[in-house]
Amino acid sequence: MDKECESIEKCGFFKKYKETKALACRGFVRRYCKGPQQNECKRKKYSQEHGTPPSNDMMPNGQMIVA
Ligand code: SF4
Repeated sequence: MDKECESIEKCGFFKKYKETKALACRGFVRRYCKGPQQNECKRKKYSQEHGTPPSNDMMPNGQMIVA
């Protein structure tokens, strides 16, 4: 099993969407937050570049969830 993302405890996306039943979000959590693509996460990149985390609704691929 892959290591979890080091930001998982404080990540707004993970907190907000970890319980969701939406398949797309679950896929992101599985592939990014708890999987092999965590170092490609655009949320991480954003935080590094801006010194502040993005909206909770930004997905690991950089796109926004529109309700
Ligand atoms: S969304 Fe990105 S920063 Fe947040 S826990 Fe998942 S991989 Fe880590």
